Amino acid sequence: MMNKKKRIVIALGGNALGNNLEEQKIAVKTTAIAIVDLIEEGCDVVIAHGNGPQVGMIHSAMSSISSIPLYVSGAMSQTYIGLDLENALRDELLNRGIKDMPVATVMTQVVVDKEDKSFENPTKPIGRFMSLEEANLAKKEHGYDIVEDSGRGYRRVVPSPSPKKIVEIDSINALVERGQLVICCGGGGIPVIQEGNSLIGVDAVIDKDFVSCLLAKELDADFLIILTAVEKVAINFGKENEKWLSYLSIEEAKGYIEEGHFAPGSMLPKIEAALDFAGSKEGRAALITQLEKAKEGINGETGTRIHM
Ligand code: ADP
Ligand code: MG
Repeated sequence: MMNKKKRIVIALGGNALGNNLEEQKIAVKTTAIAIVDLIEEGCDVVIAHGNGPQVGMIHSAMSSISSIPLYVSGAMSQTYIGLDLENALRDELLNRGIKDMPVATVMTQVVVDKEDKSFENPTKPIGRFMSLEEANLAKKEHGYDIVEDSGRGYRRVVPSPSPKKIVEIDSINALVERGQLVICCGGGGIPVIQEGNSLIGVDAVIDKDFVSCLLAKELDADFLIILTAVEKVAINFGKENEKWLSYLSIEEAKGYIEEGHFAPGSMLPKIEAALDFAGSKEGRAALITQLEKAKEGINGETGTRIHM
């Protein structure tokens, strides 16, 4: 009997890529080991990733030269991250004697709804911290929305609309079907709105956890694996009665969301993405675990699994 390979979409978090050029070069090596482990376990893997620190870094560097739309900085971050990640993966594959797996990074645009409520209510802080004077200047000169970020200074906030359609999905799918290792939807994808036949970039940052869910559904994956800095999801996180969870049903997860166990902007989008994917079709499941534990996680030895 032929066993169909399990198809996995992996969402990489900040710890998989580091915060600057030097850190990224090192971090991608660990990331490549975790991913090639899954390939050796017999999985078909597709990779998506975040870009928080990178897009902030590129955007402020570029802005000191001339004005640049945020979505263009997002596009730059996709290739810059893709470059290091792709090469680390290729090295790791070859080092393990896997010679027949091409790796490619696909620049990815993601359509969002022009009417998305987040456009009226930007919540996602990006880039560096500013003083009040700098913030006021940025507001005046560039029309940025500014918030005070938890006592640490002022930051630009941008809308975080929900992803509706992955523009390059057919190209991604064609590569995946040929058994190639694809890196796509970097930084949540470049947000665009559709105007007739044209796609227009918008200054927003799509959550990488949500776009990974959409990608996993579109590719009819079996598993959505969200790799982050914690081995498991907890309830009462950081409190005395903290409890780490190995398994979460959709019903339980909904209850815990109501009770506020998952921090918005960090664990909450992961849980929401996991729930959405696991509930979308029979046989689909999501796993949230630590980058270094991916292999144990897929073998059911650790992590938090979410299924119907
Ligand atoms: P990533 O870059 O992978 O998206 P985030 O920092 O956005 O990472 O989210 C992961 C973080 O969420 C964990 O490192 C942890 O500190 C935090 N977190 C918040 N609530 C929980 C929870 N209930 N259980 C586990 N981790 C949580
Ligand atoms: Mg995050």
